[in-house]
This record gives sequence, C-alpha cells and structure tokens, in this order.
Amino acid sequence: MFSRMKEAQINDIHFRHDKPTGLKAMIAIHSTRRGPALGGCRCIPYDHTEDALADAIDLARGMSYKAALAGLDLGGGKAVIMEPAEAYDREALFKAFGRFVEELGGRYITAMDSGTMLQDMDWISTETRHVTCTSHSGDPSPYTARGVFAAIKACLQASDALPDTLQGLRVAVQGAGNVGFELCRLLHEAGAQLQVADIDEERRQCCIDAFGANTVPVDQILTTECDILSPCGLGHILTEELIPKLRCSAIAGSANNQLAGPEVGLALYRQGILYAPDYLINAGGLIFVAMSHEGQSEADIYHRVDELGDTLLKLFHRQEQSGEASSLIADRMAEQILYGNNDEAVAS
Ligand code: NAD
Repeated sequence: MFSRMKEAQINDIHFRHDKPTGLKAMIAIHSTRRGPALGGCRCIPYDHTEDALADAIDLARGMSYKAALAGLDLGGGKAVIMEPAEAYDREALFKAFGRFVEELGGRYITAMDSGTMLQDMDWISTETRHVTCTSHSGDPSPYTARGVFAAIKACLQASDALPDTLQGLRVAVQGAGNVGFELCRLLHEAGAQLQVADIDEERRQCCIDAFGANTVPVDQILTTECDILSPCGLGHILTEELIPKLRCSAIAGSANNQLAGPEVGLALYRQGILYAPDYLINAGGLIFVAMSHEGQSEADIYHRVDELGDTLLKLFHRQEQSGEASSLIADRMAEQILYGNNDEAVAS
C-alpha cells in the first residue's frame, strides 16, 4: 500500500469501519497544498478492498490535477464507500460517513460521485459542513457539459482537419446522461448534427425527441464516422486495439479516465486524432461546486468554465511544438502548478 501511495504521491489515507451501520469507507487525500481536498464519494459494491483502495488512490490524484488545471485553490481527495452486500439503512450509513468526514476537520470536502445522490449528501450534511452537492447547492452536470462544449470549440480552432464552425459539425455522443444530454442541447442549439448512443432506451429517445438526433447502436458509436467523438458514459473505453478503427478527427467528452492506459494517448497522437484530456475538460462541475461553495456569482462561474477552452488551446499549442501526447502534457502542466512554477504552466 505504501509503495502505491508513493507512486501516486498520495499524502494520507483514512479508513473507517462502523459496525452498527456496516460502513466500510476510505478517504484518500492526495494533496492539500493548494487548499482543502475536494472530491466525490463513490458508493458501489467492491469484491475486494484492494479494488476500492485503488479507486480511491487513482481518483484522489486525478482530483488534484483537475483542480490545478482549472485554477482552483483546492487539493484533491476521494472517498470510497464499499456498498454493503446485504440490506442496509442508507440514511444511517451516510450519516456515519458524514461523521467520518467531520473528523478530518475540513481537510477533505465530499461531493457526489458514482452511486451517490443528492439525498445522500443531504444526510451527510446533518453531520458535517464539509460537503457540497446537497439539494441546496444544485446540479454540477450542466457546468461540466459547458466545459466540454468549450473544449469542442477549442478543438475546431486547433485542428485543420475539423470545420471552422459548429454549424453542421458531426458529433457522436456516447452516453446521453446528465452531462451527455446537456451537451447535446448546447451542440444542437449551435447547429451541430448529433449521433447518439445510450444503453438506456429512454435517454436515447429523449435525444431524438428534443434534438432530432440520429441514434447509433451502442457497439458502433465509438467507431462511427464523425468529426468529434464525445465519450460521456464510461471510462477505460479508448484502448490500443480501438485506435486504428476510430473514424473521428478529435475526441472530447466528459467521461473520467477515458484512456485505458498511458500508451493510448501517444497512439491517438500518432493516428492524427486530437485528444482533449478528460480531467481538464470535465472540470466544469468541480468549478461550479467549488465557486458556489464560496458564494461566487453565476457569471464568474461561467467565465471560469469557459476558460477551460483557453487552457486546452495552450495545451494543443504545446503538443504541436513537442509532438508529445496531450495526456502527458496535461499531467505535466498540472504537476508544474502543483509542485513547481505555476505561472510558467499556464502562461506558456
Ligand atoms: P450519468 O450516469 O447521468 O450518464 C451516463 C450515461 O451513459 C447513462 O445514460 C448511461 O445509460 C450511459 N451509458 C453507460 N454505459 C454506456 C455504454 N456502454 N454505451 C452507451 N451509453 C452508456 O452520468 P453523468 O453524470 O452524465 O456523467 C457521465 C460521465 O462524465 C461519467 O464518466 C462521469 O464520471 C463523468 N463526469 C461527470 C461529471 C458531472 O458533473 N456529472 C463531472 C465530471 C465527470
């Protein structure tokens, strides 16, 4: 475990087993150097504790990088609750988790993630104020979609292989959930042509009804011919085997951890596909959560979200100069902000 922590540069990991409620949870804090570690709480079943720990570690690090590139004074952390296999009292479980968060005294601020809902955050908020995404604070998804939309516009500016305008742009969206649907709305309003796939029939139908989208079978969306592929469903979908089959000029979507491995970033670059690093462009929700927690205005939040497109352009510019994978450049830019010269990272 310690070598894993060293590798991911994780500062501390906290564990809690609360016998009365069955809570088994861990909170990984990657860094609090730039501010409190903000990151969601997953609550999903795990077969092995090691898998839950691996998730907490990887995701905590990603949050630090995401916050750094978004220019937020926050560190990165993540909580994982191993969902009990037997029937359990959800309210009691999340209240126990809230007490766990409270004991960390504000070093970690929790939020929604896979398998958690607004109601869970409301229960947590009865025990600690170090929680966001409650029913009072609103849904971050539209802000995440806005950031991805800004990134798509930056892709058009950066690539000669793409049209100059959103009008008629062919975008294939995998997953029309909270973020994907909102992204489809923004693209539709800007005149883009949508191709959508979702395993959920109802969500797919909503896109047809609302935006006149074409639907594509779930197993064909990634390889469908389009200008931009926008993965807004699951992670680990871009594998080395898939790259030669892709028929898009750029990839820009909200899904976390889209690259199945670090080598895939370079494979995409060699294939001539522009890749907008996921944790950079899906930071809109985090920006909303952090800035609204501080009481900042809607206009300021929008402005900061739209700036994600500018950061992406800087990254693509660096890619042109260095010939490296955009995913590696994003890591390096975040590391410079976290550990090195801040101004150099964002200005050059
Ligand atoms: P969501 O659960 O609302 O939507 C995901 C959608 O993808 C669902 O409609 C689901 O049916 C669909 N889907 C799942 N597997 C699929 C498959 N194989 N093919 C096609 N569709 C599939 O989730 P969301 O909040 O919209 O988030 C989407 C992604 O963006 C996730 O990876 C999430 O981690 C990431 N993300 C979300 C936010 C946010 O603000 N919600 C912020 C940052 C990152």
